[in-house]
Amino acid sequence: MKKQFLALAMAAMMAASLAGCSSKPAETKAPETAAETQEAAGETTEAADESAEETKEEAAAGGVLVMGTNAEFPPYEFYEDNDIVGIDVEIAKAIAEKMGMELQIEDMAFDAIIPAVTSGKADFGAAGMTVTEERQRSVEFTDTYANSNQVAIVKEDSDIAGSADLEGKTIGVQLGTTGDALATELKDATVERYNKGLEAVQSLTQGKIDAVVIDQATAQAFVKKTEGIKILEEKMSEEEYAIAIKKGNTDLVEKMNAAIAELKSEGKIDEIVAKYMDAE
Ligand code: GLN
Repeated sequence: MKKQFLALAMAAMMAASLAGCSSKPAETKAPETAAETQEAAGETTEAADESAEETKEEAAAGGVLVMGTNAEFPPYEFYEDNDIVGIDVEIAKAIAEKMGMELQIEDMAFDAIIPAVTSGKADFGAAGMTVTEERQRSVEFTDTYANSNQVAIVKEDSDIAGSADLEGKTIGVQLGTTGDALATELKDATVERYNKGLEAVQSLTQGKIDAVVIDQATAQAFVKKTEGIKILEEKMSEEEYAIAIKKGNTDLVEKMNAAIAELKSEGKIDEIVAKYMDAE
């Protein structure tokens, strides 16, 4: 898989240099520190505005498409050695390829993705992100490309059998996710919010919390690698994933939707999903 990733990245770079466009490599960047983010936020000078304009023009002429994600969400996005891989990464690469553009991935906290999209720091957000009415107030979503559910992970010997038993319990979630919103609604529950889903799972195995509410495929990925925990059968929500784009960027929404429709009809999305689900 790594080889394939490298080959794709090289192909993208070659295509970009052949086309005489940006020669920026399809690199992945480590998350910025809070200080760096703050510093960058303070630099809203004219120069920054100009370069944002340039980025847009470059994008229109082929160029680079910046994806904001949170690479802590297997099988959709996660680190494999130093590379960010996963279902969203491959779908985004396939979309960028169809658009004749080069993909650049920026890793950030999940709750920083929508702000990155609305501020133009990222062209789009792809992070197993569920379409919600609340998010639709700040961003536009493409057509959906996957379904998901929230589920609860508990200790194997837990007496929690369903969501009704979660009332009054301490529940771990990833900050700013739909799992967070769902747990927050539960009666008398105490919600512990973590930056990474895996940290919530670790707290569960250490007996600090009673359950973790998280997306099903990610729950499966974590449970597979952790002894002594299980996923409850009950599906606590029905959700759909889509790509978030800045409001008003209708052009990008339309282009991405066209690419998604093609990928669906080619069976490519199913193929990518199967590859990562089987690898689990
Ligand atoms: N699907 C969930 C959400 O959109 C979780 C996404 C994630 O943690 N990457 O809130």
